Amino acid sequence: MDHHVLGISGGKDSAALALYMQINHPELDIQYFFTDTGKELPEVYEFLDLLEARLGKKILRLTTFKTFDYYLKMFNNYLPSPQTRWCTRMMKLRPFQEWIKPWLDNGEDVYSYVAIRADEPHRTGLTQQHPHLHVTLPFREEGIKKPDVKEILENSGIGLPKYYEWRSRSGCTFCFFQQKIEWVHLLERHPEAFDEAMHYEKDALEHGSPFTWTQGEPLQELKKPQRIIQIKQEFEKRKQRELARRRKNPLRDGLEDLSIDDIYDADEGNGACIVCAK
Ligand code: SF4
Repeated sequence: MDHHVLGISGGKDSAALALYMQINHPELDIQYFFTDTGKELPEVYEFLDLLEARLGKKILRLTTFKTFDYYLKMFNNYLPSPQTRWCTRMMKLRPFQEWIKPWLDNGEDVYSYVAIRADEPHRTGLTQQHPHLHVTLPFREEGIKKPDVKEILENSGIGLPKYYEWRSRSGCTFCFFQQKIEWVHLLERHPEAFDEAMHYEKDALEHGSPFTWTQGEPLQELKKPQRIIQIKQEFEKRKQRELARRRKNPLRDGLEDLSIDDIYDADEGNGACIVCAK
């Protein structure tokens, strides 16, 4: 027996892929799943509900049944970071692997559809780890790019997830892939989540963790009013630079749909996680 699975991250690309597959491959009985760390943004759950209603199908919620606090202790109170991404390994990948393991052990084939677009040549999916696990990249194979993803979501009536107004990536409230401006936005929109992140960080530093959530700057410092003004000014400069670049080439990039994702500073945000952010 074959199994077809598609991981929904709460972000735009995986949501668009789910809709795309439903329209273009109705013959496949795809099981949608979301791996829940228990630290997701409320906007992510709202978006999942909308998508579920549009698909007319349940999005299975997978968890490890162990909390972030449990794993934090297990990793000696070291915060996860781009160098030691235990959060993704333990809380995003493991539940998926455990879910499909009985099928693979039974010799059944699992087809996993991953939302890597044709305009993301640098990204790779979860590599084939088992002869019966087949990772497929329909967007890349069929030339689907970022504007197409937006169109799919708009045509479906869902639109982009709400958090794109202030954040470039989905995932945990305290994800270390955030840029500094996104931490400021988290403080303004979800102060309780910011406080929780600050608490984890303080505890981790006291236990000798070498990592802070955002490179070289504890959240205690980042939340100071003067620092916030500075971060906002730096972000505005980046935005103006990107707009100026686009004005030179308006046909290619467009001016009207500039989002925080388009101004993502990889040095500050450290890139992105393929499992969490898509
Ligand atoms: S969203 Fe960020 S913090 Fe959460 S599991 Fe993914 S990489 Fe880790």
